[in-house]
Amino acid sequence: MKYEPIIGLEVHLQPKTKSKMFCGCDADYFGKQPNTHTCPVCLGLPGALPVPNEEALDKCVKLALALNCKINKESKFDRKNYFYPDLPKGYQISQYDLPLGYEGFVEIDIDGDSRRIRLTRIHIEEDTGKSLHEGDLTLLDFNKSGMPLLEIVTEPDFVDEIEVEQFAKRLRQIVRYLDISDADMEKGQMRFELNMSVRETGSKELPDYKVEVKNIGSISVLQKVIAFEFKRQTELLEKGEKPAQETRGLKDMTGETLSQRVKEDSEDYRYFPEPDIPPITYSDEKIEEIKTTIGELPNEKKHRFIDQYNLEPSAAETLVATKRKADWFEDSIKDISDKALIAEIAKWYVGDVIGLLKADKKSLSSLKFPPADLAKLVSLVKEGKLTGTLGKQVLAKMYKTGDKPDDIVAAEGLEVVDDESELKAIAQKVIDENPKVVADISKNPNAIKFLLGQIMKETRGKANPKTAEKILESLFA
Ligand code: ZN
Ligand code: MN
Repeated sequence: MKYEPIIGLEVHLQPKTKSKMFCGCDADYFGKQPNTHTCPVCLGLPGALPVPNEEALDKCVKLALALNCKINKESKFDRKNYFYPDLPKGYQISQYDLPLGYEGFVEIDIDGDSRRIRLTRIHIEEDTGKSLHEGDLTLLDFNKSGMPLLEIVTEPDFVDEIEVEQFAKRLRQIVRYLDISDADMEKGQMRFELNMSVRETGSKELPDYKVEVKNIGSISVLQKVIAFEFKRQTELLEKGEKPAQETRGLKDMTGETLSQRVKEDSEDYRYFPEPDIPPITYSDEKIEEIKTTIGELPNEKKHRFIDQYNLEPSAAETLVATKRKADWFEDSIKDISDKALIAEIAKWYVGDVIGLLKADKKSLSSLKFPPADLAKLVSLVKEGKLTGTLGKQVLAKMYKTGDKPDDIVAAEGLEVVDDESELKAIAQKVIDENPKVVADISKNPNAIKFLLGQIMKETRGKANPKTAEKILESLFA
């Protein structure tokens, strides 16, 4: 029998804000002394009153709109009651029946085809503190307590871990484009919860159980968990057993999971409206205003690049990986209308410039030359004033020093040798020095290539290869 997984995701995303969700505490808490970013509100002291952070709310609406969601113009906060040592109030302020956004989708590319992953909802809530275990002791740090979180919930639309990976990466890319969050997983700014079950392939019904895996902090671990759970659940089904409806946690980073608690069908969180916060309203005008701040999203940009600049989809994908990368490219071709030249600049940018940065583990901001200089360099090559090989040498120099391509070419005497009489003399010298090859010329198809190579050597790579080849051919015609 064949089995297939059914996968849904919950993503917790920390938006970039100045202060926490319901108090004025500085949100820049990461790596700071424990319990230094706290106040009565985020410590959950009795009588403290929460005041919602407008910046976080607007970012949630912005993300919801960018992910094609509808907006609840009348929304509210609710209390989700559960006990946890790092949740001092005994409840989390979240959103229950009226999330800010609902019914959206994210488009992912699978083998060149685009596919929609439906989103059930996006809501806003507060984060908990952090427990640190030291021997028999549990220490609590409330710096993270009350940090804003955006929770994005998908429908169970994923069929494998590749789709999940594409989704997670696309989502991360979008929130970075929107400057909503850095989505730095090493700082816990983007976390995943997996909902997964397995059924016989071909069955249309949703299984009557679901396994939840909490607190997954990286995309690669997420993929490993999916592989582990698929195997584990399939093995149970093959034995005729139904996997338990339960919450599982990570055993380690290998993707192996352990049972944490077996759940009832629906956990009773005794949700009720948060009495200390008035309802949230968004007017049509305000929603329109937020819409105007979204700008071009990566997928749109990619398709525009393909159409406008005649780029290959894979090149366009690399170019739009980050907004900064895409902007740099567009800066470099600002004054250029020649499509072939633009495609060539894109090639140099994606293959060489980004390659140099990658090898050095550096970012675009550390590049020493401006975008226009890359265009200048590629034009020199395209116009035949510089050979491709020497062009790469010039680029390496530009990368190191930030010098102008023209200046490097002049200083190092790299201009192409294109003068026919000069090349003819060199060709004759090469012919005289290689009588054996010349004698062989009618039988050996590689002889001309060899002689051409010798001319390049004589000129230290500066001969225009086309002219040199033409001269050689005329000499043997
Ligand atoms: Zn606080
Ligand atoms: Mn949540």
